[in-house]
Amino acid sequence: MELNKDIDQFDIQIAKRTYLNNPNSTLIKKLFIFSPFLFLILSVAALRFIRNVELKSLNNLKFQVERSHDARILGHLPYNETPKEKLVLIEPNIEVHIDMRDSLLKMREEAKKDGIYLVFLSGYRSINLQNDIFYSLKSIRNQEAAERARVSAPPGYSEHSTGFAIDIGDATQRETDFETDFENTDAFRWLIKNAAKFHFKLSFNKDNKYVDYEPWHWRYEGSIEALKVFESSNRKL
Ligand SMILES: [Zn+2]
Repeated sequence: MELNKDIDQFDIQIAKRTYLNNPNSTLIKKLFIFSPFLFLILSVAALRFIRNVELKSLNNLKFQVERSHDARILGHLPYNETPKEKLVLIEPNIEVHIDMRDSLLKMREEAKKDGIYLVFLSGYRSINLQNDIFYSLKSIRNQEAAERARVSAPPGYSEHSTGFAIDIGDATQRETDFETDFENTDAFRWLIKNAAKFHFKLSFNKDNKYVDYEPWHWRYEGSIEALKVFESSNRKL
């Protein structure tokens, strides 16, 4: 009995069953608990992604529509050739649209009164002539189309074909004809101050991204027909 008691005293305690914490099972449990939240988060993310893709394709479509509306080629807008019956000769080699003749001649007269001598260099140009200018000069100067387009419009894209454009020089400084340096002549300074009174506007100013600055090239916007012709060009992009 005595012995048994002693044995009892030193008996090994009943082994406790313990389960090793399996890291995988904890993760699965956690996933199970959080699965509704995860599902929610993933759904929101998926919806946002789909919406972004849709918006992007919508924006692309809008951009394409805007681009096709504009129809510029190398920075120049398309212009129709004015019919022969609307053209009048103002100098031996210069024809212009009948709508702008009086205003143009009056502008030259008014300039003369101020001691400024305007000389008209080029008015109406047919699409055929523009074709020759564009392609012959392009090859003479060994220039690519985009380079050439900076200083000359491709055929069908020149304001000169409308009869509403005029290139102007200073009769006392002919070396500046068709040169950027024309901007330093008295004629140019006079035009900047007075041309708007006669409904003339500089077509290619220094802000134009594609076409070089042409201080000699002016267009007439003094009739409904002229305004219609230049409507797209005046619309800000
Ligand atoms: Zn011109």
